[in-house]
Amino acid sequence: MPTRYDAIIIGTGQAGPFLAQRLAKTGMKVAIIERKLFGGTCVNTGCTPTKAMVASAYAAHLARRAGDFGVTIPGPVSVDMRRVKERKDAISSDSRIGLEKWLKQMQNCTVYEGHARFASPQMISVGSEAITADRIFINVGGRALVPPMPGLDEVSYLTNSSMMDVDFLPPRLIVVGGSYVGLEFGQMFRRFGSEVTIVEMGPRLVGREDEDVSAAVADILTAEGVQLRLNAKCLGFAKRGDEIVARLDCDQGPNETSGTHLLLAVGRRPNTDDLGLEKAGVAVDARGYIVVDDQLRTSVPGIWALGDCNGKGAFTHTSYNDGEIVAANLLDNDPRRVSDRIPAYALYIDPPLGRAGLTEAQVRKAGRKALVAKRPMTRVSRAVEKGETQGFMKIVVDADTREILGAAILGVGGDEAIHCILDVMYAKAPYTVLQRAVHIHPTVSELIPTMLGDLQPLTD
Ligand SMILES: Cc1cc2nc3c(=O)[nH]c(=O)nc-3n(C[C@H](O)[C@H](O)[C@H](O)COP(=O)(O)OP(=O)(O)OC[C@H]3O[C@@H](n4cnc5c(N)ncnc54)[C@H](O)[C@@H]3O)c2cc1C
Repeated sequence: MPTRYDAIIIGTGQAGPFLAQRLAKTGMKVAIIERKLFGGTCVNTGCTPTKAMVASAYAAHLARRAGDFGVTIPGPVSVDMRRVKERKDAISSDSRIGLEKWLKQMQNCTVYEGHARFASPQMISVGSEAITADRIFINVGGRALVPPMPGLDEVSYLTNSSMMDVDFLPPRLIVVGGSYVGLEFGQMFRRFGSEVTIVEMGPRLVGREDEDVSAAVADILTAEGVQLRLNAKCLGFAKRGDEIVARLDCDQGPNETSGTHLLLAVGRRPNTDDLGLEKAGVAVDARGYIVVDDQLRTSVPGIWALGDCNGKGAFTHTSYNDGEIVAANLLDNDPRRVSDRIPAYALYIDPPLGRAGLTEAQVRKAGRKALVAKRPMTRVSRAVEKGETQGFMKIVVDADTREILGAAILGVGGDEAIHCILDVMYAKAPYTVLQRAVHIHPTVSELIPTMLGDLQPLTD
């Protein structure tokens, strides 16, 4: 006989554990299932370890620049990759172990370790066990996409997951993919000491950002010696001796590049192909993402999908927010929705990019009457004092309602400073509220009111 629960949660990523706690607190009998590492992508192979490594890379970069600050470091700066990995592993495992313990001690919650599969709309099998519930929450996340590419089967390659085991310096690293994951790894390995070539199929890096952001990101990376190969439309790979050769078919430069190691960072795919969704009748889209409505209900009553697997977000904060939305709807009589969420994220190259709301290009495309202001980081005292003046901040405002439509802060502290803009957007307050706020000196945020004083009509 299957064991009966009030709720089953599949996956311990960013939404599942929070939701387990909310449900269990009401007295519901909850089961949560994890097939591999507690905490999922963010804790084990995503945000936490990469940002720990970004911090090591920043330390190496700053040490090399010590002379700029009047500090003398006798001898060359070197990086001990084993210690970089040990530090990263310690930070990740603290988080993973803490979460596992917390879940295992949670009252009214039973943890299953194994691969979950639907046997029917209300029944899940985990190994030899079967469990049932009227409410099932899918939080299975995603993994690196490895699309078929000519010659890929002839060469060995890394993904964000296998990069976690790298405790040596790849002498010459080819990174395929010029978006968030590829750029973060690319810059950090350059700073560790690798020669790095970033290969991107599109005409510019981070193609979803405005062109000025892409150009400034490219400047930041090339200033550190990262090679960029854009427009690599016809990618293929081959082994040549000990080397990996990537055929590029670029518009410019020789049409191949070579390296000792290859990292694929070309996107993500949802972990929905081995979940038995067809046994439950849960609909997925053409790319395997589970189709959900604005309150995260799937096509089958009693089954919800949260986090990266529903394609509504691709970040830790969006997955966690999915858990809040479902909990609010089920437990608090509060009809929160995904559409209440303002897109916001950061790109953790150094200096980072903090982004909120619409890009300038999206505002133009929508044909909205808008005002725009921009300020280079060279005119931000805090950045000058810190000796980190790359990048700029930009904001776009609706000319009629005076509400802020979107902003980008590419520069030191940009990942934090963006929140004062984001919060005003959530408050739906006019930009003048922020313009009149008196911010602390010297900070990056203090220049946001000043920048708002320079708003100009967005012209063609
Ligand atoms: C390199 C990298 C860096 C990133 N950096 C950031 C960042 O800085 N900021 C940010 O916001 N986001 C970042 N992200 C994205 C972020 O990691 C994800 O958006 C987030 O982890 C998604 O969480 P989730 O809850 O959807 O699922 P996940 O965290 O992926 O968790 C899903 C869990 O479900 C388990 N599972 C899957 N299938 C089954 C099954 N059938 N049975 C049982 N268990 C199963 C998995 O083992 C996993 O533990 C990064 C991602 C990568 C790859």
